[in-house]
Amino acid sequence: MKRILFAVSLIVAIAASTAAQQSLDAMIDREIAQLVNTYKMLHGAPELSHYEVKTSALVADQLRALGYTVTDHVGKYERPEWKGYGVVAVMKNGAGPTVLVRTDLDALPVEEKTGVPYASTVKTKNDAGQDVSVMHACGHDVHITSFLGTAKMLSQLKDQWHGTLVLIGQPAEETIDGAKAMLAGGLYSMIPKPDFAIALHDNAELEAGKVAYCPGFALANSTSVEITIRGLGGHGSKPEATKDPIVVAAQTILALQTIVSRENSPLDPAVVTVGSIHGGAKSNIIPDEVKLLLTVRSYKEEVRQRILASIARITKNIAAAAGIPDDRAPIVKVSDTEVTPATYNDPALTERLAGAFQKSLGADNVVKWPPIMGSEDFGRFSLDNSIPSMMFWLGAIDPARVKASKESGKPLPSLHSSLFEPLPEPTLRTGVKAMTTAVLELMKK
Ligand SMILES: [Zn+2]
Ligand SMILES: [Zn+2]
Repeated sequence: MKRILFAVSLIVAIAASTAAQQSLDAMIDREIAQLVNTYKMLHGAPELSHYEVKTSALVADQLRALGYTVTDHVGKYERPEWKGYGVVAVMKNGAGPTVLVRTDLDALPVEEKTGVPYASTVKTKNDAGQDVSVMHACGHDVHITSFLGTAKMLSQLKDQWHGTLVLIGQPAEETIDGAKAMLAGGLYSMIPKPDFAIALHDNAELEAGKVAYCPGFALANSTSVEITIRGLGGHGSKPEATKDPIVVAAQTILALQTIVSRENSPLDPAVVTVGSIHGGAKSNIIPDEVKLLLTVRSYKEEVRQRILASIARITKNIAAAAGIPDDRAPIVKVSDTEVTPATYNDPALTERLAGAFQKSLGADNVVKWPPIMGSEDFGRFSLDNSIPSMMFWLGAIDPARVKASKESGKPLPSLHSSLFEPLPEPTLRTGVKAMTTAVLELMKK
């Protein structure tokens, strides 16, 4: 008898979960046309980091209309001329866990070349006053739309969850200072400290309809470094009367490459890239200085610290070896704004949500993804990993294009490319379903 009862209750439980899935699919069916419209509208109206005026207003308005308690203009930057466009939306639904879901809001200075009918033609001025085109080349419009769809689903499914749901729209992800600005603007004094924080990012290599997860370190930390190599300039025909910073810069760039190859353990992933070099104006003038801009990536904080110390040591000593006097020693400036910690996906939370995704999306549509050296500032919301956090990948590409790319060996356009082209409907459908599933898993009654 017990066995029969158990079997019956199992069947009832499976039927209930299947019914819940079907009803979530049916609910998304009703919304999908509107969500695709919202996506195309956002795609055609991208805004640069620190200037997310209309995007944040749209997010705040929609969340208010859904019954969330919304605070907007959250965020405090070090540069007073930048306004905080963070959005914080709260829905309380009895006692239970607090779960934070984050979307980013900003776009990139990229001229769109996808040729889609809803392509961006937006042009604006950047912080330096230069004219730039703007495009959602990182797919943050996919994130916003999935987030708004999730907000709607969860407002309609209040009988299935309990606790405090916190939805945040974060500005300035691309400049990796928006999460920091929201925290400086008092985010965690406005809401209870979350028990979990989750986010998604679209993926330029994964098929629409799928999601991917990576337990542990998933994205690297990132630090920008500016080096000014100072020499003593003069006539190009008279090098003996100068200290040539161009030659010193060349030696320094090559020597910096030995940090990863010779000083760092091969088991600790790290990158030192010199992405910019500027010096001199004319072939026959030895300039006074050369500027280098670097990005430094790793997973572990101690590796990052060691690399930064090595950069300072190598740069200083190469200049000294060239006979540059101490008062013209290089200046190594580690940025305090272009810096972000690694994204660490709490392994237990990640496995739990991966299991929920498998049930909801089907096991074939949930894949494990390797860590990457790209970076994100979502990790800041975990307060040094004291809040279990997880960012998962959302497939965004037409499966036929992924297949063709695999067969031909020709890579697909990456995130930040002018040709990055998410396939709207299946991507958004999966984004809403996966994020709603994740929240229900963590807050279910
Ligand atoms: Zn990006
Ligand atoms: Zn992004």
